Amino acid sequence: MNTLKTCEACGEGRLHPRIDRFLMEYKGSSQDLVRHHHVCNECKGDYTLPEDLRANRREVIRFQKMVEAIPLGCEIRDMRLNAGLSQQEAGILFGGGPTAFSKYEADDLVPNEAMVNLIKLAMVDDTVVKRLRNLKGVHLRATVVRDHSASQVGAMEWQSAATVIHGHGASTYGAAVTGRGYYDLEAGWNQ
Ligand SMILES: [Zn+2]
Repeated sequence: MNTLKTCEACGEGRLHPRIDRFLMEYKGSSQDLVRHHHVCNECKGDYTLPEDLRANRREVIRFQKMVEAIPLGCEIRDMRLNAGLSQQEAGILFGGGPTAFSKYEADDLVPNEAMVNLIKLAMVDDTVVKRLRNLKGVHLRATVVRDHSASQVGAMEWQSAATVIHGHGASTYGAAVTGRGYYDLEAGWNQ
């Protein structure tokens, strides 16, 4: 490979990726985990590069998640895609902010207990995301909103969408505006 980095210590050798295994114990469970590092072919120096640190951290987090029955990043991603949400949209609906799901899905960050519970609910019940939308008054799909733009309802959805975009949060706009309840994109007025 000609993409190998030059060794900064000797200035001549190339850093070759290496993998070790080590036994990690956590809360009574143990498993062989992979440790990534690099070795120089000239000075034989052994280095843990930033990308090694990230990969090693993910290995540990995945193991901790399995021990604690926390959904893995790939499982969270499947749930999100099944719900038709972008990572940013999921961060708005579930909470956590616009970058939370990219971290959860990369196994860079373990969701807190409340988030884990919500994600697990959404994994087994595909109405959870819809209910969250109604709870938060969030209409995330600009394309869907445009379908209603000619009607009065559409105008109110635009208001809600604009509120979300401007970051003020949209909660009970439906009830506040109409006194009738909220408008559900799939089911219509819910009184
Ligand atoms: Zn070297």
